[in-house]
Amino acid sequence: MFTPQWSKILLSSNTNYQLYSRINKSYLIMDTTPVLQVLDKHSQFQDIVRGSADGGYYHIKVDNEKTWVPILPGYTIFTKIKNSIFQLSINVSNDQKIMFSWINFGENENDISNIIASNSQPDQFQSLIAYISSNGSISIPNLLGFNISGIVRVLVTAVYQKYPHLYPQFQPIFKTYQVTEKTIGVVQRKAKRLRREVEDSSSETFTCEGLLITTGETKHVNYEVFMTLLIENKQTKQLLYNANRQIKHLRQKIDTIMHEQNKMDDNEENEDQEECLMARVNKIIEESKLRSTILVSTEQFMYLVLQQPCGHCGETCLIYKKTKVTTVGFGVKILVSCQLCETSSEYTNESSNINFNTCIATAGLVGGINRRSLQMVLACAGISLQLCKVSFHQRQACTFEKIISAAGTSADIALRKVIEHHKIQGKQIIPVSFDCSWSHVRNAHQASGEMIYDGRDIDGYSYKPIIAFHIVEKP
Ligand SMILES: [Zn+2]
Repeated sequence: MFTPQWSKILLSSNTNYQLYSRINKSYLIMDTTPVLQVLDKHSQFQDIVRGSADGGYYHIKVDNEKTWVPILPGYTIFTKIKNSIFQLSINVSNDQKIMFSWINFGENENDISNIIASNSQPDQFQSLIAYISSNGSISIPNLLGFNISGIVRVLVTAVYQKYPHLYPQFQPIFKTYQVTEKTIGVVQRKAKRLRREVEDSSSETFTCEGLLITTGETKHVNYEVFMTLLIENKQTKQLLYNANRQIKHLRQKIDTIMHEQNKMDDNEENEDQEECLMARVNKIIEESKLRSTILVSTEQFMYLVLQQPCGHCGETCLIYKKTKVTTVGFGVKILVSCQLCETSSEYTNESSNINFNTCIATAGLVGGINRRSLQMVLACAGISLQLCKVSFHQRQACTFEKIISAAGTSADIALRKVIEHHKIQGKQIIPVSFDCSWSHVRNAHQASGEMIYDGRDIDGYSYKPIIAFHIVEKP
């Protein structure tokens, strides 16, 4: 883009100045420093040319389309009229009238501090037209640049933020406009920083990222070049963002997999350890001919339990250990909680497949000893913790069914053998005796009657076998 000398000088004096070209190739510079004011009168479209003084818009063609262009106080431009540099600006009076102000700085392009003439009227620049005494008709919107789409966008954006309903079609553009403005803002700030760095640099050549940045005069980059760089910058940032997201996602995935792997390894180790321990235990039992249950003193057992380090953190110190003991008859469970890592381990005197209560109850039943007698026996061996009466008989009731069933099978086998034996000998009569007794072992009102074979000549029986029996119980 060709830039006339006067605008080059202005542009280099203030970074808030922006260059625009009109359709007739003349130029104007917009000063973006003042904030554009949206007044109450801008809440509805009203043409300033046609209507009353309340109008705040020009209804004119922009890019061949009739558009409502807002006349906003704060809008300021520089332009050249008849070889002189003018500043045209829109202001607002105390009674909310839109004021059209102008300043003539004269023809000296290098000095715009010298005011030759100025005026400010709510007259749509009629005073300016009179001042320059133009013969031809001057279009004020054209002079202000209100038919340049870039400027219209700036003005409409200001109104849109306050009265969005006026420009519904502007909504999608507004979003991208904001993004663009923001991006440009960021680049401009960085550009200023770079300029300072270049200026502070003492060397003739300044390089950054392998690029040569000259310290000489300001180089103007045209719009397309600038936007291309901006687009590439956006694309690169997006790529970087996507890549980072992917990295984060993959990292999380790796962490999860590693965690699971560790857990699996731990479990395997624990399982290995458990297996080794069981194998070792079995080996010791076998080698030392310990067989099954051994009697252990309560003190010794507790002593061993409390010496165990925490299964989780390995703490051995007693002050961190909290114990809770629960007993069910002969079964004892000790829960040791570690205060340090808040985990707990359970120790018991029973194996998972053995229930001492059932064993003792059954022992009483099979041995023909009642609960009291059994208690005495155990107490003499130092086992003072006992199963209560109800539980004891409950356990026996459970076992009793099995014993009756097993006894039934046994009697059945014996009877068949006896019959077979008599058949072979041709005998027709089986000599039997009968016995009946009340149970004194179980606390049950029951009596059993049994038929006993009166002979010792059956193979495999050294005693007189019972060949039938029945149990009756009082309801
Ligand atoms: Zn612990």
